[in-house]
Amino acid sequence: MDRVMVITGASRGIGAATARLAAARGYAVCLNYLHSAGAATSLAGEIRAAGGRALAVAADVAVEAEVAELFRRVDGELGAVTALVNNVGVLETQMRVDQMDAARLNRIFATNITSAFLCAREAVRRMSTRHGGRGGAIVNVSSAASRLGSAGEYVDYAASKGAMDTLTLGLSREVAAEGIRVNAVRPAFIHTDIHASGGEPGRVERIRDSIPMGRGGEPGEVANAILWLLSDEASYATGTFIELAGGK
Ligand code: NAP
Repeated sequence: MDRVMVITGASRGIGAATARLAAARGYAVCLNYLHSAGAATSLAGEIRAAGGRALAVAADVAVEAEVAELFRRVDGELGAVTALVNNVGVLETQMRVDQMDAARLNRIFATNITSAFLCAREAVRRMSTRHGGRGGAIVNVSSAASRLGSAGEYVDYAASKGAMDTLTLGLSREVAAEGIRVNAVRPAFIHTDIHASGGEPGRVERIRDSIPMGRGGEPGEVANAILWLLSDEASYATGTFIELAGGK
């Protein structure tokens, strides 16, 4: 059967690395993005030039109507989704909890966890045997922050990833008998642009000496784990987590 993957936040970082690897493994890929149209469309073009199938779709995945439209476009242009990677995640300027306001908290939770519920809902409606689907797999991109807490940096972000872990556990059990596996990866200290959003682009290098492996990670190292969890090699794995934090 055709394998069709939706990856949220695929214009750069971990999402882009996942899209590249998925296309190389034969998936048709939908690359979702918010602002980086140039990066997303050029990656889609690169995949098509190499003989793959790719579609770049702008959508704010925190907005219900935009998520619904994203999946309708995938239905029409790539076919029924068989794999979802809930990769979108944002953080904001490092600060303590005693400085955070409600507007910031609402932005973080809407983008990091409401989005994952909305995308999972659309995917389950298409994949579940209960709804006439052929099954599929979901990988949620959580973070080691969910167990480390990100004190003094962004406890709000860490808490949204705690919610991602619970979504993974709950949804995995809800749909386990309907042909859908739901797992998560918990990366940390990966070399991407996300750290600049916190106001510290060089954060990984600052922390490096406290990482047991003595280095940060690369987006491709996270993509490898995501592709494995989505593959038939992980056929009995659901509700599980892969730690990708260099031993931290
Ligand atoms: P990144 O380089 O900052 O990329 C974020 C991606 O998300 C971009 O493609 C961005 O699109 C997209 N995006 C942001 N808000 C969106 C929205 N509302 N709707 C649609 N797309 C949106 O991030 P990354 O480091 O690759 O992180 C990917 C995931 O890994 C996140 O969930 C993050 O929490 C998690 N993670 C990362 C690390 C790390 O060290 N890097 C560690 C642990 C977990 P535009 O380019 O269009 O803005």
